[in-house]
Order: sequence, then C-alpha cells, then structure tokens
Amino acid sequence: MGGKFASEKRAVGFCEKCGQRFKLKLLKPETVRGRTLRNRVCPSCWDPDHPQNWQGTQDMSDPQALQNPRPDPSLAQSRDIPPAPYSVDDIPKFN
Ligand SMILES: [Zn+2]
Repeated sequence: MGGKFASEKRAVGFCEKCGQRFKLKLLKPETVRGRTLRNRVCPSCWDPDHPQNWQGTQDMSDPQALQNPRPDPSLAQSRDIPPAPYSVDDIPKFN
C-alpha cells in the first residue's frame, strides 16, 4: 500500500544552489550547526557541516585566577625583590 507521499523513484528536482536538474533522490539537505536545513542540494553542491559553524558553542575560557586563594604568609620575605647582583656601573658602555 502507498504511503502519504508519492515515490521519489522517477521524480526530478532542482538543486537550490546551482539550479541544475537531478533525480530527486540524489538531492539532500544541508546541515548547519547541527540543524538540518530545509533545502535540497546536489552532491557536488552539498557541503558537510563545517566545524567553524560551531564556533562560540564551546566554552574556551582559560581562567588563571583562583577564586579563594590562601597564600602562605611566611613567604613575605621571599617576595622582596633582591638587590641586583650587579650595579649599573658594571654594564659596559658603548659610545
Ligand atoms: Zn547543485
């Protein structure tokens, strides 16, 4: 028994990109960002869902700061900037 629609066995359709005529069963819809569009394009015009279409959907943040840091207070002395191992006079001058 037949279904709700006629068979695509001998039907023809037109590619929605290039406009050329093809067998309808050769035309297939494109997918953008995981959503299937309602167009039908020929095999040469069909493009797979490009990964760049998914840009912005992934969390790409790279946080560096800690939320509740507890630094070691005994490290206060170690945070002092030590004197330079050389003086400015030790640097050779080029004139
Ligand atoms: Zn085409």
